[in-house]
Amino acid sequence: MSELPTIIEVAIPLHLNTSFHYRVPPDLVLLAQPGKRVLVPFGRRKLTGYLLGVVSESREQLRDIIEVLDQEPLFTPAELDLYRWMAAYYHHPLGEVIKTALPAGINIQSSNRTTLAKDGRPMAEEVMSGGRKVKSELFYLPLSGAETDAAPRGKAVQLLQFLREAGEASATLLRQRFGAVAPQLKRLVELGLVRGEAREVYRDPFREEVFERDQPLVLNVHQHAAKLQITAALDSKAFAPFLLHGVTGSGKTEVYLQAIAHGLEQGKTALVLVPEIALTPQLVKRFKRRFACGIAVLHSGLSDGERYDEWRRIRRDEVTIVIGARSALFAPLQRLGIIVVDEEHEDSYKQSEGFRYNARDMALVRGKRDYAVVVLGSATPLVTSYHAALEKKLGYLSLPGRVRDLPMPATELLDMRGRKGDALSPGLIAELGANLAKGGQSLLFLNRRGFATFLICQDCGHVLRCPNCSVTLTYHRGRGRHFCHYCDYFIAAPSVCPGCGGPEIGLLGRGTERVEEEIRELFPQARVSRMDRDTTRGRGGHARILKGVETGEIDILIGTQMIAKGHDFPGVTLVGVLSADASLNLPDFRSAERTFQLVSQVMGRAGRGDLPGRVLIQSLEPAHYTLTRAAAHDFAGFYADEIAFRHEVGYPPFAHLASLNLTGNSPAGVERGAKEAAAQLRSIRQELQVKVEILGPAAAPLAKIRGRYRWQILLKATRRSELHRLLAGFGGKLKLPPVVRMGIDIDPVDML
Ligand code: ADP
Ligand code: ZN
Repeated sequence: MSELPTIIEVAIPLHLNTSFHYRVPPDLVLLAQPGKRVLVPFGRRKLTGYLLGVVSESREQLRDIIEVLDQEPLFTPAELDLYRWMAAYYHHPLGEVIKTALPAGINIQSSNRTTLAKDGRPMAEEVMSGGRKVKSELFYLPLSGAETDAAPRGKAVQLLQFLREAGEASATLLRQRFGAVAPQLKRLVELGLVRGEAREVYRDPFREEVFERDQPLVLNVHQHAAKLQITAALDSKAFAPFLLHGVTGSGKTEVYLQAIAHGLEQGKTALVLVPEIALTPQLVKRFKRRFACGIAVLHSGLSDGERYDEWRRIRRDEVTIVIGARSALFAPLQRLGIIVVDEEHEDSYKQSEGFRYNARDMALVRGKRDYAVVVLGSATPLVTSYHAALEKKLGYLSLPGRVRDLPMPATELLDMRGRKGDALSPGLIAELGANLAKGGQSLLFLNRRGFATFLICQDCGHVLRCPNCSVTLTYHRGRGRHFCHYCDYFIAAPSVCPGCGGPEIGLLGRGTERVEEEIRELFPQARVSRMDRDTTRGRGGHARILKGVETGEIDILIGTQMIAKGHDFPGVTLVGVLSADASLNLPDFRSAERTFQLVSQVMGRAGRGDLPGRVLIQSLEPAHYTLTRAAAHDFAGFYADEIAFRHEVGYPPFAHLASLNLTGNSPAGVERGAKEAAAQLRSIRQELQVKVEILGPAAAPLAKIRGRYRWQILLKATRRSELHRLLAGFGGKLKLPPVVRMGIDIDPVDML
C-alpha cells in the first residue's frame, strides 16, 4: 500500500497574507518537521520558507520542497502560536514575523560561507584563527581604476560615492546607512570598482570582562514593598503585569535584580529589555556582578554570527538571563518567570519599519502566555501605562524618592522669548561660570546635532534642502559638509549661494557642534566635550566620553538625548536644557509626552552625587504645562493635564489607533493610491458597520523621505475589535499600483 504524500504548510517571508502548501518527497519526510526552514520552489525562484505544520489535504497544485535546511526545529509550537498571534494583531505576514523573530545569523550555516546571505544581506563570518574563534567583519574599499562601460546604477552609485568619500566602510555600516545592499556590493565587486576584505574586529566587550561579585543591598521600605508584590506574583505562577514607577535613582534596578534572583531560585528564567544596550553599560555590569549564572547580552555590536551563537546558547538552556534591546523579546527562553521592560516609555521599543511591533506591548503578551510576571519600569511612564495602572490593569508599584534621600534638583525655567538668536541666556552663562569655578560638572542638552540647521542666502532666500527628503540640510562644520539627517545625502559646504551665486550665505539654527564652539569661546579654561552621533562613531565612542565624565576629566558636556539616558554621574551639579520647545510643537499627539519624558530625564542627571544639583530650562513657552510640570517634578500633575487633552481629542488611551502609510516614487501615484485606499476603507466600514473614524488621506508631515513620497490614513476606534475587523476586511481587497507600497502600523508611536 502506498503511503499518502505528506503535505506541509509553509510560510514565506514575503509580503503575502497567505501560507502555501507543498509536498514532501519521500526522502525528506523524516526530516520535515515543523519549526524548520525549507527551501521551496516559488514561481521561478527558490525561496526559504518556514515549515508550520502538516496538513491532511490540499486543493492547491502541489510542488515538492527542495530541501530541509535545519537539523533541529528553530521554533516550538508555542512560539509559532505567539508568532501567529502577532501576525494577526499587526496585520503582518506570518513569514516576515518569523523571520524577524529568528536571529539573522541562522543563514550562515546554509549559505556555504558565501559572504552574501540569501536574504541579500552581507554578513560577517566566523573564522578560525589558531583554534580560537575570532570575529571577522567584511570591509569594502573602493578601487581606483577606469570606469567600465557597464557603469553601476541607482543605489550602487551612492554606495560607490560613499566608499570613495569615506575610503572604506564595514558591511554593517553600509547596511545601517543604505539598507539591503548585497546585490549592489556584489555588482560593484564584479565591476572591479570595489573590493571586500575580511578583518578581525574586537569581541563582545562584556563577555570576557570579569566582574567582582556584589551582594544584594538592603532595600528601603518602598523597594521592599515593590519586591514583595513581585515575588508574591512569581510564587503564584500566574501572569501579573506591574508598572514600577520611580524617579531616576530611586532604586528600580535593585528591585529588578532582587525580583529576578527570586525567580531564578524557583528555576525560572528572566528577560530584561532595555532601550539600547550601548547606552546602558552600567545596567549590564550590575547584572554581571550580581549573578553567576549564564547571562546573554544581545547588543547591537554583535555580528549576526555572534547573535546566532547567543541564540543557540539560550535555546540549549545554557542561559538564564537575557538582556537585550527590542528584538530580545523573541529570545527562546524556556520557563520564563519574569520580563523586565526598563524605561518602558522609550520609543525604541517600537520597530519603525517592516514588521512594526512594539516590544513593550508584546512583553505583556508574551508574559501572559508564559504565565510570567512583567515589570514595566520608568521614571516617566507612558500616559497610557499610568492610566492602565489607575484602572488596575497594571499593578502599581511606586518608588517615590531617591534612594539616598538626595533632594531632587532645584529647577528654574528661563524665558527665551525675545532672545531667539541666542543659544545661552545670561542666567545660564552665569551659572555655568559659577559651577565651573566651584569645580562642578555641567551638562548641556540640545536635541539637535550638527553646527547649523540650515543655510539661507541673504540675497535670494535660497535654502539648502535635501533633494530626497522634505527637510533642510544640516551643516556639520567639523566635516565641512551639509548633511541630510534622514538619508545619506550630503554636499560640500558651498562658498557662494548655490541659487544665485551671491556671497551672503547665512547659517541659521544651532546644533550641538555650534554650542560646543560657543562654550569653548565663553569658557576657554573649561574642559569641554560633546556627545552625539557624530562624536560617538566607532567602537567605544560612548564609553570613552562617559568615562571622561565619570572620572572628572570633563567639565562641560554638551550632547543630544544620548546624555539623557540612565547614566549615573555623581559629579554633575548643573544641567542646562537649551531649547525645550523643539520637540513640543511637532504635529504628533505624543509630542508633549515625549518632551516631558526627555526633559525629566535630562533633569535626572543633576545632583546624583553628594552635592545638590541645579537645572535650568530655557524655553520660548515657559508657561506650557509640560515644562512647568517637568520643572516641578510633578508627574501626576502632568498626567492630569495630558489625560484631559487626550480625552478631549480622542487619542490613546481613549482610542485605539492604526495608521496606513503609503509611499512611492511618484507623488501623484501615491496620492491616488492613498485616496483609493481611503475610499475602499470607507466602503468596507459601511459594509461591516464598524465604528472606526477614518482620517485622511493626507500627505505625511514629512512628505518625502529618501526620495519616497509619503501619505497617511489614520484609523481611530474606541473598540480595538472593530479596528481589527475593518483592517481584516481591507486586507485582501486593495489593489494598489505596483509602485506604491502600503504599510500598516498598529498602535503607531511616530506620527510624522
Ligand atoms: P534607578 O534604576 O531607579 O535609577 P538604581 O537601582 O540604579 O536606581 O539605584 C540608584 C543608586 O542607588 C545605585 O547606585 C544603587 O546601587 C543605589 N541603591 C539602590 N538601592 C539601594 C539600597 N536599598 N540601599 C543603598 N543603595 C541603593
Ligand atoms: Zn535626505
